[in-house]
Amino acid sequence: MSGIVVVGGGFAGVWSAAGAVRLGRAAGRELPVTLISPGDDLVIRPRLYQAEPERMRVSLDRILGPVGVRRIAAAATGIDTSGRSVTTVDETGRIAEIGYDRLILATGSELVRPELPGAELLFDVDTMPTATDLDAHLNRLPELPSGDGRFTAVVIGAGFTGLEIATELADRLGALAAARAPGDKTRVVLVERADTIGPELGPGPRSEISDALAALGVEYRLGVSVASVEPDRVTLSDGTHLATRTAIWTAGVRANGLTAGIPGTRDRLGRLDVDENLAVTGVPQVYAAGDTAAAAAEPGHQVMQCCQHALQLGKFAGHNAAADLLGLPAVPFTTSPYVTCLDLGSHGAVFTNGWDRRVVATGAVAKDRKRKVNELWIYPPTDDPDELLRQADYRFSVRQIAGTPPV
Ligand SMILES: Cc1cc2nc3c(=O)[nH]c(=O)nc-3n(C[C@H](O)[C@H](O)[C@H](O)COP(=O)(O)OP(=O)(O)OC[C@H]3O[C@@H](n4cnc5c(N)ncnc54)[C@H](O)[C@@H]3O)c2cc1C
Repeated sequence: MSGIVVVGGGFAGVWSAAGAVRLGRAAGRELPVTLISPGDDLVIRPRLYQAEPERMRVSLDRILGPVGVRRIAAAATGIDTSGRSVTTVDETGRIAEIGYDRLILATGSELVRPELPGAELLFDVDTMPTATDLDAHLNRLPELPSGDGRFTAVVIGAGFTGLEIATELADRLGALAAARAPGDKTRVVLVERADTIGPELGPGPRSEISDALAALGVEYRLGVSVASVEPDRVTLSDGTHLATRTAIWTAGVRANGLTAGIPGTRDRLGRLDVDENLAVTGVPQVYAAGDTAAAAAEPGHQVMQCCQHALQLGKFAGHNAAADLLGLPAVPFTTSPYVTCLDLGSHGAVFTNGWDRRVVATGAVAKDRKRKVNELWIYPPTDDPDELLRQADYRFSVRQIAGTPPV
C-alpha cells in the first residue's frame, strides 16, 4: 500500500499528516503516511516579519518522527492524478516518483511579485530565505554611507502583512539608528493602491490601525502604486520619489503553483475548489488543505489564507483522506469562529472577532494575545507523540491549547 502522501510541510501539511496517523491508530491500523517537503523544518511563516526570522522554525522530524511519518526532503515538481504519483526532486537533483493511495496537497501560498523596473531590488517577508535577506540587509544599514534614505523603509501594500512589517520597522529602524548612527533620521512609508489603509480588513479595526500609525510615525501614501525601484530610491505612480535603500513588497498572495497541476477548478486566488470533506472537486483521491484549498468556512464565507484555518483544514483533510482509505465515514469541515490578531509594533495589537472584524481587544491586552498566538499557540508539540495526536483530532482547536477562548 502506498498510503497517504502529504505534499507540503507547513501548518496544513503537518496537521494533515498527524490527523491521518491519528485516525489510522484509532481504527487499529498503522497507515503509511509520507510527507514531502523541501525543507527540514516547519517554517512559522506568520512570524517572518519579526527580527531574526531564522529562529522561526521547528524541526519536522521532531514533530512527526515520533508518530512514524516518513519524510522525503524534496520538492514536488508534478502530480499525475491518473497514475496516482508525485514527481519529486531533491537538493542533489535526484528525481523520484512517489505513489499514493490518497494525496493531500498542502503547499501553501506564495507572494506574487510585480513586474516593474527594479523589481529584483524589492525585499519581502514571504519565505524564510527572503525574510532572512531582509533581516541581514537591515542589520547592515548602519554600515552604509550616511545620507538621505539610509534608515527609510518603503512598504508596498497596507494589508495585514504590510501593516505588521511597517509597524515593526518603525521601532526596529529607530533602535538601529539610535544605537549605531545617532542623529540619523528614520522613516517608514506605507504605499497603498487603494484609497484606504487595510482595505481588506474592513472598517472595524481601522481607527486603531490609524492611531498606531500616527503614534509610531508611520507615514502612508494612498491611491498610488510603485512605478520603479532603484538601489537608493522608489518612484511612485504619481511621480514622487522616495529616497530609500529598503523597499519591501507585501501585496498579493496566491495559492502555490502546484495547484495548477491538478485538473480541478480554482478560485481567484488559485485555490482548488473542494467539497465539504476537503476532497478536490472532480479529482478522485486528492484532498487540499491550508492556503491551497477554497473551502467553505461558514455559510457565505470561504476560509482565509491564515493559520487559524490552515491548522483546522489540515486536521480534517488528514482525517478524511485516512477515512476514505479505511472505508470510514468522512467528517464535513467546520471551523471555530473567525478571529484575527494584527500586530501593531510597540503600539500593541488589535484583536478582532467575526467576518466583519469587530474589535474586541487593543493595546497591551491584544499584544499579549498576539505574543501567545505567535510564540505558543501555533507551535505544534515536539518529541511528544501522544500530545501531537491528541491535538491532531479535528475536534481540537487552538482555543483548547490557549486554555481559555482567545476572545
Ligand atoms: C509575513 C506573514 C505574516 C502572516 N501573518 C499571519 C497572521 O498573523 N495570522 C495568520 O493566521 N496567518 C498569517 N500569515 C499567513 C499564514 O502564514 C499562512 O496562511 C499559513 O502559513 C498557511 O499554511 P499552509 O500550511 O497552507 O502553507 P505554508 O505555511 O506556506 O506551508 C507550505 C509548505 O509547502 C511547502 N512547499 C511549497 N512548495 C512545495 C513543493 N513544490 N513541494 C513540496 N513542498 C512544497 C513549503 O516549503 C511549506 O513547507 C502570514 C503570512 C506571512 C508571510
